[in-house]
Amino acid sequence: MTLLNKLCVYLDYNSSTPVRKSAIQALQQAVINYGNPSSIHQKAGKSKAILWSSRQELSQFLSCEPYEIIFTSGASESNNHVLKGLFKDISQKRNELIISAVEHSSILSVAEFLSKKGFIVHKIPVSKDGVLDEKQFDKCLSERTMLVSIMLANNETGVIFPIEKFVKKTHKKGGYFHSDMTQGLGKYPIHLKNTELDFASLSAHKCYGIKGCGLLYCKKGLELENLIHGGGQERKRRAGTENVLGIAAFGAIAKESQYILTESQKLKSLRDAMEESILSSISNTFIIGQKSQRLVNTSCIYIANIEGETLLMNLDLKGISVSVGSACSSGKINSHSTLTAMGWSKKISKSVVRISMGLGTTAEQLEYFQNTLQNVVKRLRNLAK
Ligand code: PMP
Repeated sequence: MTLLNKLCVYLDYNSSTPVRKSAIQALQQAVINYGNPSSIHQKAGKSKAILWSSRQELSQFLSCEPYEIIFTSGASESNNHVLKGLFKDISQKRNELIISAVEHSSILSVAEFLSKKGFIVHKIPVSKDGVLDEKQFDKCLSERTMLVSIMLANNETGVIFPIEKFVKKTHKKGGYFHSDMTQGLGKYPIHLKNTELDFASLSAHKCYGIKGCGLLYCKKGLELENLIHGGGQERKRRAGTENVLGIAAFGAIAKESQYILTESQKLKSLRDAMEESILSSISNTFIIGQKSQRLVNTSCIYIANIEGETLLMNLDLKGISVSVGSACSSGKINSHSTLTAMGWSKKISKSVVRISMGLGTTAEQLEYFQNTLQNVVKRLRNLAK
């Protein structure tokens, strides 16, 4: 293994992914076409064409209509848009929201905001394996439910929720269903029409696109109050000059979606072999969510008597990037809220690291990671004796 490889083993794809060549090329083309897509001249026409072709590519990728896509600045905005757009008036007949206890902070904190305004929020617990408590879900679902928002896959554990089942139950009671599908993009097939979702949030930088670009899927015919008011962009549903560069790159990713999905599936055998090797070579370890259906690229590893943050820093010194908690704002670690919400103690939650792989991950990189991990854990445990 070369020194260069050793210095850069990136295992934090769930935080953000490297940008694919095709996306960079599309972005470079879009930079040249600097016209505002809302203007009427020829220069604008080129930017408008970029928006349209990306919208079409993405709609094919996700299996929806082109104008069911609203381009946004990312999944946080899309999540805010749906929740704030549906819960407008405390006196509305349907004033209850159901979410899982392990949603991303851009759902959890809006739910808290709505709850302070007087809306009723039901947070459905999940088991230690990450499985949603269906009995509790059934108890909370009623004719008062306006919206159920359950993510497709958890960002920290990779555990996948069987959302189709919950969509059907929600629709039976007349409520809407939204899913934050951010972590599934490019790793798990997303077929919006078949899933019968009403709303979905996605983000480009979790799937080899660029940061600050995402989309909100809004099923044809559904009314949703604007989050950002102003100009008439996105058919008057999201004001502001579109992020043409980000959208161009996102469209290029959509074009490669079959390749990305197929290649991602190959990560499963790499991930499983890595887990097996870690479990057999380092004592007192286990994988959170291992028994559940998980994203193929994610591994949430508990290592007894090792602080996740200390481990992260030691691995970083060896050129290996991993994650603990979720990096919600630069450098700030969201204190393991997902794991404690799953019923794990704070002590256990603090001894967990997340490994997330992507298209650039190789068996050679993982071998270097496993050997380094073994050495670092041995050294840290010896120091603590
Ligand atoms: N939802 C999930 C599940 C995520 O993992 C993230 C990113 N950490 C977001 C939402 C927020 O995405 P964005 O960075 O595009 O706002």
